[in-house]
Amino acid sequence: MNKNELHIIYGNNPLNMVKEVLSTIKIENEIKPEMLIGIKPNLVVAKPACEGATTHPEIVEGVIQYLKEKGFNNIIILESSWVGESTAMAYKVCGYEDISKRYNIPLFDLKKDSYEIRNSGTMDLKVCKKALEVDYLINMPVLKAHCQTLFTCSIKNLKGCVPDSEKRRFHSLGIHKPIGNLAKVLKCGLIIVDAICGDLTFEEGGNPVQMDRLIIGKDPVLVDTYGASLIGYSKDDIEYIGIAEKIGAGSSDIEHADIHEYNSSLKSKSKFIPSGKSKRLSEKVIAKDACSACYGSLIHALQRLDEKGLFEKMKSSVYIGQGFRGKSIDAIGIGNCTCKFSKNVKGCPASAKDIIEFLEKQI
Ligand code: SF4
Repeated sequence: MNKNELHIIYGNNPLNMVKEVLSTIKIENEIKPEMLIGIKPNLVVAKPACEGATTHPEIVEGVIQYLKEKGFNNIIILESSWVGESTAMAYKVCGYEDISKRYNIPLFDLKKDSYEIRNSGTMDLKVCKKALEVDYLINMPVLKAHCQTLFTCSIKNLKGCVPDSEKRRFHSLGIHKPIGNLAKVLKCGLIIVDAICGDLTFEEGGNPVQMDRLIIGKDPVLVDTYGASLIGYSKDDIEYIGIAEKIGAGSSDIEHADIHEYNSSLKSKSKFIPSGKSKRLSEKVIAKDACSACYGSLIHALQRLDEKGLFEKMKSSVYIGQGFRGKSIDAIGIGNCTCKFSKNVKGCPASAKDIIEFLEKQI
């Protein structure tokens, strides 16, 4: 698999989805049997994945099943939850204890680990020893919003590989610089992004937005640039992405990325059910059989407009969904299903970034 590739798979059976992509990209060709494979999920808090904060255990299970079927058994799971949270509790509540027992995979609590200092070229960073021992790191973040950095995905997920004292220091340094530098120090063999239902506003969950997809790549800068656009940000909005690119951790060149999509027909199988904050935002949406992939983009876009104080200024509702296919209505339609509307944002699904740009011009 090349660094400029991105693989996007849609659906709501994450275990099968991840195995399908892995069998296409054949990661077994880049791992040797003696290598230590480390799986780094996002278990920032002890909350089940349905709340939008943590990596679905089914995705990790799919990766383990695939690796074991290919004869790889030297696998560990490693994580350190945020400061003040017990990683052991997160492993238990999030379903990882069960996985550990069923597949005989050790769970490492990096809060109990020692560290080594690594230099990124521009700064020293303390990194947990176990994370540095790993030969092939599979970074499995959740695509979600973040109250300080606006967005969190593959690069920021690596913060779970540093000691708590270092996490505190990161915040004292303004967070973006050390996070961006971490992407240079901790290299990912593979990145598998859980974009099933990440949170709309906070990293700790509570407002999940169904997007029903996984994003798989190798370049953390490219993966995060793509992921940011799905929830309504450009890479310039997220300072640490630019820092990581500047120091050579990857490329944000989405224009030249080799993007593969799978199961596009499954997009229409899952429907979005507004919950939490998305209920208020959905008051300006007229939906008929909208796919979660499209509706999720729209909700993220409306949230970003709300943060800019523009949501309340929207004069008319927007339409979305397969129920509007072929209909000519004088209104704003989101996605290819509403291409006959007088105003339309193209895409199947439409991207949050495109929706924001369009709606901002209408207000
Ligand atoms: S454009 Fe239509 S079919 Fe495509 S994702 Fe949106 S609602 Fe679904």
